[in-house]
Amino acid sequence: MHHQDSSVSLCDAAREFLSRGRFGLLINGQDVPAASGATLETVDPSTGAVIGHLAAGDGVDVDRAVKAARAAFQGGWSRWTAYERQALLQRAHDAIDRNFEELAQIETTDMGAPISRTRASKAAVLRMIQFFASQCTAVAGETLPNGLPGDVTTMSFNAPVGVIGGIIPWNGPLNGQWWILGAALATGCTVVLKPAEDASLSVLRVAGLLHEIGLPPGVVNVVTGYGSTAGAALSRHPDVDRIAFTGSTDTGRRIIEASAVNIKKLQLELGGKSPDIIFADADLDKAVPGAAMGVFANSGQICFAGTRVFVQRPIVEEFCQRVAAFTRTVRVGPGLNADSQLGPLISGRQLDRVLSYIDLGGREGAKLICGGERMRGDNLAGGYYVSPTVFADVANDMRIAREEIFGPVLSVIPFDTLDEAIALGNQTEYGLGGAVWTRDISQAFKVVKGIQSGVMWVNCYGLIDPLVGFGGTKHSGYGAKGGRAHLDTYLYRKTVYIDG
Ligand code: ADP
Repeated sequence: MHHQDSSVSLCDAAREFLSRGRFGLLINGQDVPAASGATLETVDPSTGAVIGHLAAGDGVDVDRAVKAARAAFQGGWSRWTAYERQALLQRAHDAIDRNFEELAQIETTDMGAPISRTRASKAAVLRMIQFFASQCTAVAGETLPNGLPGDVTTMSFNAPVGVIGGIIPWNGPLNGQWWILGAALATGCTVVLKPAEDASLSVLRVAGLLHEIGLPPGVVNVVTGYGSTAGAALSRHPDVDRIAFTGSTDTGRRIIEASAVNIKKLQLELGGKSPDIIFADADLDKAVPGAAMGVFANSGQICFAGTRVFVQRPIVEEFCQRVAAFTRTVRVGPGLNADSQLGPLISGRQLDRVLSYIDLGGREGAKLICGGERMRGDNLAGGYYVSPTVFADVANDMRIAREEIFGPVLSVIPFDTLDEAIALGNQTEYGLGGAVWTRDISQAFKVVKGIQSGVMWVNCYGLIDPLVGFGGTKHSGYGAKGGRAHLDTYLYRKTVYIDG
């Protein structure tokens, strides 16, 4: 399943960064320990080996970081013009471009995604920075007509809201952090980032690079630590104006509750159980690998993974055979192996969770047709590997079809008619992604219109461009990611009436 000889050796810069062993908080441009002195271990999920220790920040550290962010927001940063912030983002683009191999290696070591995937994310990350650079000079208000007596001029501004709390998940922070960083820098806000305890390193490294290219201290602060301490303190902090959060629906609910303290507006991308609907007329040469990788990519650790694969009855058998055959060809191995298509899961906790769902699927009566095991062979022993798994004969009301597993587990659910596919597709509390595979354009559009989700793909899965964006509905959250509407979380509208 893997080849020892294709292991990537770390570049000097990545080796130097990873060998620090201790990683502090970044507050007001300074690398500092947690006030309590506490640390937490961070582990390479490909091997189970400890990479180093992160500062375990808590409420005291969050408060220090928020004060730094507030001071920066009210200080020199507020006088940067849109062009200056744009130039900073352009320099960030070039710095990320130049250092991408180092960043990809850090990310792979930290969270296990195969180096093929983290390297390939370069284009997406750079596009995102370009998008946000373009937004710097696009934020504008309006002059507005009015019916007031006299000579009154009316207008609106879109003003930066202040301090943003950004709570980042572990499934791809090298990319994911830019939804927050890019928007904050584009609008003139400042941020306190709380990366996930399992994958903080690329966030720390990017913040370091930003300071190297002239980001003023305090504009971007990073508080590493646990969600229940650092994350919770950030989400309930009364001087944090907005929270941008990507993660589980349960944690999202807690953040909504905490937001009441100062009426924080939120941007939330939460869980999913996205339907992927395959009609009998679909091009299976595309649909089989497309639907499979729509679930297995990043070892299933993607919120919009198309985990419920609805297959029209006449092709169920053929689809199952072909998807199982495809799945057996997927190479699972250590992240730094250049041949790996899938790496390990993020943690032992996640591995246990995924294995328990696989066990549950069998007990619920689904038919395991491939995968379903922890992989321990050769040099996989210490890591958190699970073989990509396909269940056939799944019913939409089984727990494996209702609950987010966040692992490489694909469920095949048969259907007969278009209306049934739409009804089953919508029978979920989530509404994040979805796809349809068919050669019939009107059938495709009926599904696109019928499925209640924030993003739909036709004859493809998982494409994202920041100009287009995506988002969630129902329990998958609210607030656009990407597109002009993305900036709404970072701005407020101020209307002005001028007499005379
Ligand atoms: P998972 O359970 O898969 O780790 P989470 O949604 O809990 O997913 O994690 C996403 C991010 O949210 C992480 O950075 C995590 O530390 C943070 N987090 C977890 N719990 C809380 C909380 N109660 N308040 C704020 N942030 C939290």
